[in-house]
Amino acid sequence: MNAPLVDRFGRVADDLRVSLTDRCNFRCTYCMPAEGLAWLPRSELLTYEEIERLVGVFLDLGVRTVRLTGGEPLLRRGVEPLVSLLAARGVPDLSMTTNGLLLAEKAEALAAAGLRRINVSVDSLLRHRFAEMTRRDALERVLDGLRAAERAGLAPIKLNCVVVRGTNEDEVVDFARFARATGYQVRFIEFMPLDAEEGWSRDRVVPSEEVLAAIDRVHPLVPVDHGPEPARVFRFADGAPGGVGVIASVSEPFCGDCNRIRITADGQFRTCLFALEETDLRRLLRAGADDDQIAAAVRDAVARKWAGHRINEADFVRPARSMSMIGG
Ligand code: SAM
Ligand code: SF4
Repeated sequence: MNAPLVDRFGRVADDLRVSLTDRCNFRCTYCMPAEGLAWLPRSELLTYEEIERLVGVFLDLGVRTVRLTGGEPLLRRGVEPLVSLLAARGVPDLSMTTNGLLLAEKAEALAAAGLRRINVSVDSLLRHRFAEMTRRDALERVLDGLRAAERAGLAPIKLNCVVVRGTNEDEVVDFARFARATGYQVRFIEFMPLDAEEGWSRDRVVPSEEVLAAIDRVHPLVPVDHGPEPARVFRFADGAPGGVGVIASVSEPFCGDCNRIRITADGQFRTCLFALEETDLRRLLRAGADDDQIAAAVRDAVARKWAGHRINEADFVRPARSMSMIGG
Protein backbone atom coordinates (compact mmCIF):
# COMPACT_ATOMS: atom_id res chain seq x y z
CA MET A 1 0.00 0.00 0.00
CA ASN A 2 1.10 3.58 -0.71
CA ALA A 3 1.44 6.13 2.07
CA PRO A 4 -1.95 7.50 3.20
CA LEU A 5 -3.37 10.74 1.81
CA VAL A 6 -2.32 13.43 4.26
CA ASP A 7 -2.85 17.14 3.66
CA ARG A 8 -0.73 20.03 4.89
CA PHE A 9 -2.84 20.30 8.05
CA GLY A 10 -2.19 16.66 8.93
CA ARG A 11 -5.70 15.46 8.08
CA VAL A 12 -5.88 11.96 6.60
CA ALA A 13 -8.34 11.53 3.72
CA ASP A 14 -9.74 8.01 3.95
CA ASP A 15 -13.47 8.50 3.27
CA LEU A 16 -14.40 8.63 -0.43
CA ARG A 17 -17.80 9.61 -1.85
CA VAL A 18 -18.37 8.42 -5.41
CA SER A 19 -21.21 10.00 -7.34
CA LEU A 20 -22.75 7.64 -9.89
CA THR A 21 -24.99 10.14 -11.64
CA ASP A 22 -26.12 13.75 -11.52
CA ARG A 23 -29.69 12.71 -12.40
CA CYS A 24 -32.44 12.36 -9.85
CA ASN A 25 -36.04 11.23 -9.60
CA PHE A 26 -36.73 13.81 -6.85
CA ARG A 27 -36.40 17.56 -6.99
CA CYS A 28 -35.72 18.47 -3.38
CA THR A 29 -36.16 22.20 -3.00
CA TYR A 30 -32.88 22.55 -1.04
CA CYS A 31 -30.94 20.74 -3.77
CA MET A 32 -32.37 20.93 -7.31
CA PRO A 33 -34.65 23.22 -9.31
CA ALA A 34 -38.07 21.87 -10.34
CA GLU A 35 -36.78 21.70 -13.88
CA GLY A 36 -34.07 23.03 -16.08
CA LEU A 37 -30.90 21.49 -14.69
CA ALA A 38 -28.99 20.09 -17.69
CA TRP A 39 -27.82 16.48 -17.25
CA LEU A 40 -24.28 15.45 -17.99
CA PRO A 41 -23.98 13.71 -21.34
CA ARG A 42 -23.65 9.96 -20.84
CA SER A 43 -20.22 9.90 -22.49
CA GLU A 44 -18.91 12.13 -19.70
CA LEU A 45 -19.96 9.78 -16.91
CA LEU A 46 -17.31 7.46 -15.58
CA THR A 47 -18.00 3.90 -16.66
CA TYR A 48 -18.21 1.17 -14.01
CA GLU A 49 -14.80 -0.09 -15.10
CA GLU A 50 -13.37 3.40 -14.62
CA ILE A 51 -14.99 3.72 -11.20
CA GLU A 52 -13.68 0.32 -10.15
CA ARG A 53 -10.18 1.24 -11.27
CA LEU A 54 -10.24 4.58 -9.44
CA VAL A 55 -11.57 2.97 -6.27
CA GLY A 56 -8.69 0.49 -6.50
CA VAL A 57 -6.22 3.39 -6.64
CA PHE A 58 -7.90 5.07 -3.66
CA LEU A 59 -7.87 1.84 -1.62
CA ASP A 60 -4.17 1.66 -2.25
CA LEU A 61 -3.93 5.23 -0.93
CA GLY A 62 -5.53 4.20 2.34
CA VAL A 63 -9.21 4.89 1.69
CA ARG A 64 -11.36 2.73 4.01
CA THR A 65 -14.88 3.99 3.40
CA VAL A 66 -16.58 4.24 0.02
CA ARG A 67 -20.05 5.74 -0.17
CA LEU A 68 -22.01 5.69 -3.43
CA THR A 69 -24.12 8.75 -3.98
CA GLY A 70 -25.41 11.16 -6.62
CA GLY A 71 -27.87 12.56 -7.84
CA GLU A 72 -29.80 9.43 -7.13
CA PRO A 73 -27.41 6.45 -7.28
CA LEU A 74 -30.19 3.89 -7.74
CA LEU A 75 -31.10 5.56 -11.04
CA ARG A 76 -27.82 4.44 -12.57
CA ARG A 77 -28.54 1.29 -14.52
CA GLY A 78 -26.85 -1.88 -13.26
CA VAL A 79 -25.78 -0.43 -9.95
CA GLU A 80 -25.82 -3.87 -8.27
CA PRO A 81 -22.98 -5.24 -10.46
CA LEU A 82 -20.94 -2.14 -9.60
CA VAL A 83 -21.51 -2.84 -5.90
CA SER A 84 -20.32 -6.43 -6.51
CA LEU A 85 -17.18 -5.20 -8.27
CA LEU A 86 -16.36 -2.83 -5.40
CA ALA A 87 -17.16 -5.41 -2.73
CA ALA A 88 -14.86 -7.87 -4.50
CA ARG A 89 -12.15 -5.19 -4.36
CA GLY A 90 -12.36 -5.50 -0.58
CA VAL A 91 -13.68 -2.02 0.29
CA PRO A 92 -13.75 -2.25 4.11
CA ASP A 93 -16.88 -0.11 4.47
CA LEU A 94 -19.15 0.12 1.43
CA SER A 95 -22.35 2.13 1.75
CA MET A 96 -24.81 4.25 -0.20
CA THR A 97 -26.85 7.41 0.26
CA THR A 98 -30.18 7.26 -1.56
CA ASN A 99 -33.54 8.97 -1.57
CA GLY A 100 -35.05 5.48 -1.19
CA LEU A 101 -37.57 5.73 -4.02
CA LEU A 102 -36.27 2.58 -5.72
CA LEU A 103 -35.09 0.85 -2.57
CA ALA A 104 -38.08 -1.46 -2.10
CA GLU A 105 -37.23 -3.20 -5.36
CA LYS A 106 -33.45 -3.06 -5.04
CA ALA A 107 -32.56 -3.54 -1.36
CA GLU A 108 -32.21 -7.30 -1.49
CA ALA A 109 -30.05 -7.33 -4.62
CA LEU A 110 -27.87 -4.55 -3.20
CA ALA A 111 -27.28 -6.46 0.03
CA ALA A 112 -26.56 -9.66 -1.93
CA ALA A 113 -24.06 -7.71 -4.05
CA GLY A 114 -22.15 -6.73 -0.92
CA LEU A 115 -23.56 -3.37 0.15
CA ARG A 116 -23.20 -3.14 3.94
CA ARG A 117 -25.34 -0.24 5.02
CA ILE A 118 -27.46 2.56 3.73
CA ASN A 119 -28.45 6.17 4.44
CA VAL A 120 -31.88 7.19 3.24
CA SER A 121 -32.96 10.81 2.98
CA VAL A 122 -36.33 11.54 4.56
CA ASP A 123 -37.14 15.17 5.32
CA SER A 124 -40.69 14.82 6.55
CA LEU A 125 -42.93 12.11 7.94
CA LEU A 126 -45.98 13.98 6.71
CA ARG A 127 -47.12 13.04 3.24
CA HIS A 128 -48.00 16.52 2.02
CA ARG A 129 -44.85 18.11 3.38
CA PHE A 130 -42.65 15.33 2.02
CA ALA A 131 -44.25 16.00 -1.36
CA GLU A 132 -43.59 19.72 -1.03
CA MET A 133 -39.96 19.28 -0.07
CA THR A 134 -39.05 16.63 -2.65
CA ARG A 135 -41.61 17.73 -5.24
CA ARG A 136 -42.68 14.05 -5.42
CA ASP A 137 -45.56 12.42 -3.56
CA ALA A 138 -43.50 9.42 -2.54
CA LEU A 139 -43.31 9.12 1.25
CA GLU A 140 -45.05 5.72 1.33
CA ARG A 141 -42.71 4.27 -1.28
CA VAL A 142 -39.69 5.50 0.63
CA LEU A 143 -41.02 4.00 3.88
CA ASP A 144 -41.53 0.69 2.01
CA GLY A 145 -37.94 1.00 0.86
CA LEU A 146 -36.76 1.42 4.45
CA ARG A 147 -38.59 -1.73 5.50
CA ALA A 148 -37.08 -3.62 2.55
CA ALA A 149 -33.59 -2.42 3.52
CA GLU A 150 -34.18 -3.67 7.04
CA ARG A 151 -35.35 -7.08 5.80
CA ALA A 152 -32.30 -7.29 3.54
CA GLY A 153 -30.02 -6.75 6.54
CA LEU A 154 -28.62 -3.38 5.47
CA ALA A 155 -27.72 -2.14 8.93
CA PRO A 156 -27.51 0.19 10.66
CA ILE A 157 -30.09 2.21 8.76
CA LYS A 158 -29.54 5.94 8.99
CA LEU A 159 -32.00 8.59 7.90
CA ASN A 160 -30.75 11.94 6.61
CA CYS A 161 -33.06 14.84 7.31
CA VAL A 162 -32.18 18.34 6.09
CA VAL A 163 -33.79 20.79 8.48
CA VAL A 164 -34.96 24.00 6.85
CA ARG A 165 -36.34 26.88 8.94
CA GLY A 166 -40.04 27.44 8.41
CA THR A 167 -40.42 24.10 6.63
CA ASN A 168 -39.82 21.02 8.78
CA GLU A 169 -38.15 22.04 12.05
CA ASP A 170 -41.39 21.33 13.92
CA GLU A 171 -40.92 17.62 13.12
CA VAL A 172 -37.61 16.92 14.83
CA VAL A 173 -39.23 15.38 17.91
CA ASP A 174 -41.47 13.25 15.66
CA PHE A 175 -38.34 12.03 13.90
CA ALA A 176 -36.80 11.13 17.27
CA ARG A 177 -39.96 9.20 18.09
CA PHE A 178 -39.67 7.44 14.72
CA ALA A 179 -36.05 6.54 15.53
CA ARG A 180 -37.12 5.05 18.86
CA ALA A 181 -39.87 3.02 17.20
CA THR A 182 -37.72 1.70 14.35
CA GLY A 183 -34.20 1.56 15.79
CA TYR A 184 -32.91 3.82 13.00
CA GLN A 185 -30.47 6.63 13.57
CA VAL A 186 -31.91 9.93 12.38
CA ARG A 187 -29.29 12.45 11.36
CA PHE A 188 -30.30 16.08 11.10
CA ILE A 189 -28.27 18.00 8.54
CA GLU A 190 -27.97 21.77 8.50
CA PHE A 191 -29.07 23.37 5.24
CA MET A 192 -25.95 24.30 3.25
CA PRO A 193 -25.54 26.88 0.45
CA LEU A 194 -25.39 24.21 -2.26
CA ASP A 195 -28.95 24.41 -3.59
CA ALA A 196 -29.19 24.99 -7.33
CA GLU A 197 -31.83 27.70 -6.92
CA GLU A 198 -29.61 29.69 -4.56
CA GLY A 199 -32.45 30.12 -2.09
CA TRP A 200 -30.16 29.42 0.86
CA SER A 201 -29.90 32.08 3.51
CA ARG A 202 -28.51 31.97 7.00
CA ASP A 203 -31.91 32.48 8.58
CA ARG A 204 -33.13 29.24 6.95
CA VAL A 205 -30.45 27.21 8.75
CA VAL A 206 -31.70 25.55 11.94
CA PRO A 207 -28.63 25.19 14.17
CA SER A 208 -28.09 21.61 15.34
CA GLU A 209 -27.98 22.78 18.97
CA GLU A 210 -31.59 23.88 18.61
CA VAL A 211 -32.59 20.50 17.17
CA LEU A 212 -30.84 18.64 19.99
CA ALA A 213 -32.37 20.85 22.68
CA ALA A 214 -35.89 20.30 21.30
CA ILE A 215 -35.43 16.52 21.31
CA ASP A 216 -33.61 16.41 24.65
CA ARG A 217 -36.54 18.16 26.36
CA VAL A 218 -38.83 15.26 25.40
CA HIS A 219 -36.44 12.33 25.04
CA PRO A 220 -33.21 13.01 26.96
CA LEU A 221 -30.08 12.26 24.97
CA VAL A 222 -26.65 10.92 25.89
CA PRO A 223 -23.63 11.56 23.61
CA VAL A 224 -21.98 8.51 22.06
CA ASP A 225 -18.40 8.29 20.86
CA HIS A 226 -18.75 8.60 17.08
CA GLY A 227 -15.19 8.07 15.86
CA PRO A 228 -14.01 10.11 12.90
CA GLU A 229 -17.40 10.88 11.30
CA PRO A 230 -18.61 14.49 11.25
CA ALA A 231 -21.98 13.70 12.83
CA ARG A 232 -22.29 14.12 16.59
CA VAL A 233 -24.21 11.06 17.70
CA PHE A 234 -26.54 10.50 20.66
CA ARG A 235 -28.48 7.60 22.16
CA PHE A 236 -31.64 7.85 24.19
CA ALA A 237 -31.00 8.07 27.93
CA ASP A 238 -33.86 5.67 28.70
CA GLY A 239 -32.25 2.92 26.61
CA ALA A 240 -34.82 3.05 23.78
CA PRO A 241 -33.51 1.76 20.43
CA GLY A 242 -32.33 4.05 17.66
CA GLY A 243 -30.47 7.29 18.02
CA VAL A 244 -29.99 10.81 16.81
CA GLY A 245 -27.11 12.47 14.99
CA VAL A 246 -26.49 16.04 13.93
CA ILE A 247 -24.31 17.33 11.12
CA ALA A 248 -23.68 20.97 11.97
CA SER A 249 -21.76 21.90 8.83
CA VAL A 250 -22.75 25.58 9.04
CA SER A 251 -23.04 26.42 12.75
CA GLU A 252 -20.13 24.27 13.96
CA PRO A 253 -17.92 23.40 10.98
CA PHE A 254 -15.92 20.22 11.46
CA CYS A 255 -13.40 21.01 8.70
CA GLY A 256 -10.49 20.58 11.13
CA ASP A 257 -11.26 16.85 11.31
CA CYS A 258 -12.44 16.38 7.72
CA ASN A 259 -11.42 13.03 6.23
CA ARG A 260 -13.62 13.26 3.11
CA ILE A 261 -12.84 13.38 -0.56
CA ARG A 262 -15.14 13.07 -3.55
CA ILE A 263 -15.34 11.97 -7.16
CA THR A 264 -18.14 13.49 -9.22
CA ALA A 265 -20.10 11.41 -11.73
CA ASP A 266 -17.98 12.92 -14.51
CA GLY A 267 -14.74 11.93 -12.84
CA GLN A 268 -13.68 15.19 -11.21
CA PHE A 269 -11.84 14.82 -7.92
CA ARG A 270 -12.86 17.27 -5.16
CA THR A 271 -11.26 17.64 -1.73
CA CYS A 272 -14.23 19.54 -0.27
CA LEU A 273 -17.96 19.89 -0.97
CA PHE A 274 -17.28 23.60 -1.31
CA ALA A 275 -14.03 23.32 -3.28
CA LEU A 276 -13.66 25.77 -6.15
CA GLU A 277 -11.09 23.56 -7.84
CA GLU A 278 -11.45 20.07 -9.34
CA THR A 279 -8.87 17.59 -10.64
CA ASP A 280 -9.86 15.88 -13.87
CA LEU A 281 -9.30 12.15 -13.21
CA ARG A 282 -11.48 11.16 -16.17
CA ARG A 283 -9.10 12.91 -18.56
CA LEU A 284 -6.17 11.09 -17.00
CA LEU A 285 -7.94 7.73 -17.20
CA ARG A 286 -8.93 8.25 -20.82
CA ALA A 287 -5.47 9.50 -21.77
CA GLY A 288 -4.00 6.18 -20.66
CA ALA A 289 -2.44 7.30 -17.34
CA ASP A 290 -1.21 4.43 -15.17
CA ASP A 291 -2.26 3.98 -11.55
CA ASP A 292 0.84 5.73 -10.22
CA GLN A 293 0.13 8.83 -12.30
CA ILE A 294 -3.47 8.92 -11.07
CA ALA A 295 -2.32 8.43 -7.48
CA ALA A 296 0.16 11.29 -7.89
CA ALA A 297 -2.57 13.64 -9.16
CA VAL A 298 -4.79 12.70 -6.21
CA ARG A 299 -1.95 13.17 -3.74
CA ASP A 300 -1.20 16.62 -5.19
CA ALA A 301 -4.82 17.69 -4.92
CA VAL A 302 -5.12 16.44 -1.33
CA ALA A 303 -1.92 18.28 -0.42
CA ARG A 304 -3.60 21.49 -1.64
CA LYS A 305 -6.83 20.87 0.32
CA TRP A 306 -7.83 24.07 2.05
CA ALA A 307 -8.30 24.50 5.80
CA GLY A 308 -12.07 24.58 5.48
CA HIS A 309 -15.15 26.00 3.86
CA ARG A 310 -15.76 29.70 4.25
CA ILE A 311 -19.56 29.73 4.56
CA ASN A 312 -19.28 31.92 7.64
CA GLU A 313 -16.79 34.36 6.07
CA ALA A 314 -17.56 37.50 4.12
CA ASP A 315 -15.54 36.23 1.14
CA PHE A 316 -17.53 32.97 0.77
CA VAL A 317 -17.93 31.91 -2.86
CA ARG A 318 -20.38 29.18 -3.80
CA PRO A 319 -18.94 26.38 -5.93
CA ALA A 320 -20.06 26.45 -9.55
CA ARG A 321 -21.86 23.12 -9.21
CA SER A 322 -24.71 22.48 -6.81
CA MET A 323 -25.19 19.47 -4.53
CA SER A 324 -26.73 16.97 -6.96
CA MET A 325 -23.92 17.60 -9.45
CA ILE A 326 -21.18 17.24 -6.86
CA GLY A 327 -22.50 14.23 -4.97
CA GLY A 328 -23.50 14.79 -1.37
N1 SAM B 1 -30.17 11.44 -3.85
C1 SAM B 1 -29.60 10.87 -2.70
C2 SAM B 1 -30.25 11.36 -1.44
O1 SAM B 1 -30.96 12.36 -1.50
O2 SAM B 1 -30.02 10.74 -0.39
C3 SAM B 1 -28.10 11.05 -2.62
C4 SAM B 1 -27.55 12.38 -3.03
S1 SAM B 1 -28.03 13.77 -2.00
C5 SAM B 1 -27.23 15.11 -2.81
C6 SAM B 1 -27.04 13.45 -0.54
C7 SAM B 1 -27.49 14.15 0.71
O3 SAM B 1 -27.30 15.53 0.54
C8 SAM B 1 -28.95 13.95 1.04
O4 SAM B 1 -29.08 13.48 2.36
C9 SAM B 1 -29.53 15.33 0.90
O5 SAM B 1 -30.59 15.54 1.79
C10 SAM B 1 -28.34 16.20 1.20
N2 SAM B 1 -28.45 17.56 0.66
C11 SAM B 1 -28.80 17.95 -0.57
N3 SAM B 1 -28.78 19.29 -0.69
C12 SAM B 1 -28.41 19.77 0.52
C13 SAM B 1 -28.21 21.08 1.04
N4 SAM B 1 -28.36 22.18 0.29
N5 SAM B 1 -27.82 21.21 2.34
C14 SAM B 1 -27.66 20.10 3.11
N6 SAM B 1 -27.81 18.84 2.66
C15 SAM B 1 -28.20 18.67 1.40
FE1 SF4 C 1 -32.21 14.18 -5.58
FE2 SF4 C 1 -30.92 13.66 -3.34
FE3 SF4 C 1 -30.88 16.12 -4.42
FE4 SF4 C 1 -33.13 15.24 -3.35
S1 SF4 C 1 -31.19 15.59 -2.27
S2 SF4 C 1 -32.93 16.24 -5.36
S3 SF4 C 1 -33.05 13.11 -3.80
S4 SF4 C 1 -29.98 14.31 -5.27
